[in-house]
Amino acid sequence: MKRNFWINFLSFILGLVIVASFFIFKTTLHAQESEPILPVLQIHPLPITLEQWQPQEQDDYFCSLVSPPIGALIWTEFPIKIYLAQPELEQNTASYQQFQKWVSAVSTAIQEWNIYLPLNIVKEPEIANILIKRELPPLGSSFNAETGKIEIPRARTAQTRYDLEITKTQPPLLTHRMTILISPRLSETSLLSAARHELGHALGIWGHSPVETDALYFSQVRNYPSISVRDINTLKKVYQQPTRLGWKIPDILINKGLDF
Ligand SMILES: [Zn+2]
Repeated sequence: MKRNFWINFLSFILGLVIVASFFIFKTTLHAQESEPILPVLQIHPLPITLEQWQPQEQDDYFCSLVSPPIGALIWTEFPIKIYLAQPELEQNTASYQQFQKWVSAVSTAIQEWNIYLPLNIVKEPEIANILIKRELPPLGSSFNAETGKIEIPRARTAQTRYDLEITKTQPPLLTHRMTILISPRLSETSLLSAARHELGHALGIWGHSPVETDALYFSQVRNYPSISVRDINTLKKVYQQPTRLGWKIPDILINKGLDF
């Protein structure tokens, strides 16, 4: 009787050890799989153009922005390289002239932001940090739980998204690339306004202003707001935030995108 007790007791302890080690093993394995090795969040020095920005009005809308898990979506190498995608069009046709008007409006928006962050239009898409395409953004759809129906929202006129990449430099750095789609159907003035707004996202303002006199106001308005002091105050604050971008990474890449 006593001997049976000890055998049962020892079997129980052994069982516990086996179950416990299984769980410890599982947790370790899980931790290794679910925690990619990304650079820690750190702050980069401010670009000189933003450091020199000392406005009298201190107002901004930084608190309305989204904070991506990767940290601030800022650029650390200047000038920031922008590529305008060229469709194959025959010269002197109506479509070619339309495209030239589109290029001219987008270039104006680039010149406007260039005052605050150095930008450069490049001819090779491979080296670009920001790609701008004359393309209708996808519609997208959402499921309405109340009606049980799939809803297709209004067509978007423009969209900006980002992808993460690792540089081929030594050491490899975590970096990103922005893609802006701007509808070919916009009028010249609203095209400039859309390009200005989307470039604001691509330069790091990831979210919207609640005030309609800011270029990053969440909705399209008739007065086509220029880049405001509040836009640049917000941009400067964004560049003072920690980020995983621009820092050394061992080997893992994650792709993520967000639309606005
Ligand atoms: Zn937007």
